[in-house]
Amino acid sequence: MKDHEHYPLIPIERGEGVWLYDFDGNRYIDAISSWWVNLFGHANPTINAALSEQAGRLEHVIFAGFSHEPAIQLAERLVAITPEGLERVFFGDSGSSAIEIALKMSFHYWKNSGKSGKTEFVNLANSYHGETFGALAVGDVPLFKQTYEPLLMKCRTVASPDCFFREEGESWESHSRQQFEHMRTELEQHHETICAVVVEPLIQCAGNMRMYHPVYLTKLRELCTQLEVHLIADEIAVGFGRTGTMFGCEQAGVSPDFLCVAKGLTGGYLPLSAVLTSDQVYQAFYDDYSTLRAFLHSHSFTGNPLACAVANATLELFESENTIENNRMLAQVMSESFSHLNDHRQVAEVRQTGMMLAAEMVVDKKTRQPYPWQERRGLKVYLHGLKNECLLRPLGNVVYLVPPYVITPDQIEHLAKIATAGIELATK
Ligand code: PMP
Repeated sequence: MKDHEHYPLIPIERGEGVWLYDFDGNRYIDAISSWWVNLFGHANPTINAALSEQAGRLEHVIFAGFSHEPAIQLAERLVAITPEGLERVFFGDSGSSAIEIALKMSFHYWKNSGKSGKTEFVNLANSYHGETFGALAVGDVPLFKQTYEPLLMKCRTVASPDCFFREEGESWESHSRQQFEHMRTELEQHHETICAVVVEPLIQCAGNMRMYHPVYLTKLRELCTQLEVHLIADEIAVGFGRTGTMFGCEQAGVSPDFLCVAKGLTGGYLPLSAVLTSDQVYQAFYDDYSTLRAFLHSHSFTGNPLACAVANATLELFESENTIENNRMLAQVMSESFSHLNDHRQVAEVRQTGMMLAAEMVVDKKTRQPYPWQERRGLKVYLHGLKNECLLRPLGNVVYLVPPYVITPDQIEHLAKIATAGIELATK
């Protein structure tokens, strides 16, 4: 908050497409989709229409004993577009709540199946899964976690497949394969006490947009099945086309036991999340009331009709706009516009997976030594962006682009120009 003595908050009056407009006549391209939630631009006319239509019909209703059309439609749609075998849907109201639900459901499944010795979770180093206690416990970004460590459930943390520290000349695939051996050792030794492994498919977003090869997920799925450990895929940030496919898991040809989605699910309009799971998991809870095997977890706004209606409109846009296909062209423009930064003396690499691109600033390109966090180099890029109609909000030393899908090639090129100048300033 004290920062705002120097950098006042920017109240936004309205949004339109990729643009945000403040009260002083300035505008900004939302290059990070307001924390990766916006997909089809601000104040999107199609989503607006769906929202107001639903508001005129039903704003909310208790989601226990009652149901409604938007939620049923959405559940059916999600089952249809997600990897095979995910047939049951549980709604939550944020990404973090989706993670809590998946963790609880995994543990409870094993308990209901006579395996109450399974009480632990495995996560990846540098992962992020949200801010509530369970989600924070399975995350590994010290900035968010360290303070609360004494209060959190212990987790088995395994080296990440992140390809940033691969050997020179080594491929992503080879590095991710090699890193998998850490996971193999951990699971082979401890699978009897492990409920689930929780991962962010392909990109560790809040962990500085670090990326890895899909082969890791393919191998992880095989091993989890073999050792009776659940796989929880947190696609809260990467789902809905961010990685170039609708879901990151598709690139590895895998279905997780639990798929968590949120953020882009509503096109960035309203808080809503969902956890998809298999019928096998569902059946482990399906019993007479008196057996007390049911999964009791409810949020007041579970399955909110307004949120479900905008989610349905968002998923319709993917079809009518041929989004996944069009994004290939945009991703190519992103790649070309930023590729020159690979030669920058203070940029270790430009990495990209689909519609997510990151350039990492370093003290030493060869050793990849990071700038000390206290120097806040990213803040300099942010400030330069603001002066030039761009909302770029680096993660530490990492300048990244996660734009709404309605961005144009010209706007991407503008962002590349401003990001480059910002990096130049910040690394002087
Ligand atoms: N998982 C991932 C991968 C995320 O990126 C985030 C949010 N940045 C969350 C979980 C938490 O979602 P929410 O902020 O909606 O609770």
